[in-house]
Amino acid sequence: MGNVAGSAVEERREAAVLPGYERLGGAAPVVYPPGLRERAAEARDVLAAGSAALSEILGVEPPDLEALLVADADWGRAPRENERPYPPGLPYFTRAARPPVLVLPETLSSVFRPRTAATGALVLWHELAHAFLLREPLPRTPAWLRELVPQALSAAVARRTGLLLERHLEKIDREPGFTARSFGRHADADGQMAFQNLLLAFGDAAVEEFGEGFLRALAHALWEETDVVGEERAQALLADSLGPGGREWLASRPEF
Ligand SMILES: [Zn+2]
Repeated sequence: MGNVAGSAVEERREAAVLPGYERLGGAAPVVYPPGLRERAAEARDVLAAGSAALSEILGVEPPDLEALLVADADWGRAPRENERPYPPGLPYFTRAARPPVLVLPETLSSVFRPRTAATGALVLWHELAHAFLLREPLPRTPAWLRELVPQALSAAVARRTGLLLERHLEKIDREPGFTARSFGRHADADGQMAFQNLLLAFGDAAVEEFGEGFLRALAHALWEETDVVGEERAQALLADSLGPGGREWLASRPEF
């Protein structure tokens, strides 16, 4: 979810391959533990579809990366930027290995809600979108913009691939008691999930209204920013990327 650190730490590069793990080749290679070959093949297909779609939407080549499906028992040995393991069950993208790695848990944390046929793919595409966005240095932005872009991209990929996104969105609480911009950063795991879900529904509504083209404009605008992007600048970047009527549309959205 939000575990994307910017610093490249080199010393853990050997950790990308865990003992006994094998590799499934392809456009998006997946390294996996004994017994999880089928899961690895599923992840490879979901990532390949996501990678092709994100590459077209953003107008950039896919980043150099591989996925590492980690058995629950090995979670503490997955590559990461911090000394201590991350909470179990949360996928993340890290550049603490060469090539950078999308770390995927054997068991997805129960924090991820709602659980529908779309959940697993949406989570993978969210992390993959972070990896695409980090091809170029990104400025610091408010949390809502940092997480809105991958959530809207994930929704756009779902729309392209015919995933049952609508049935997933139907199960999301549309009035969690905060808006994208008022959300407090110190929320617990359930609060973070509600925040991500709000952004997924909001991002999907923006794609519905303006088409997926605004995501390419927004990503490229962010790559061109050199300073910290403050609240006002973040809103202007989003409104400009949406195009004509963007400002008015944002003002009309209660969840924003
Ligand atoms: Zn995220």
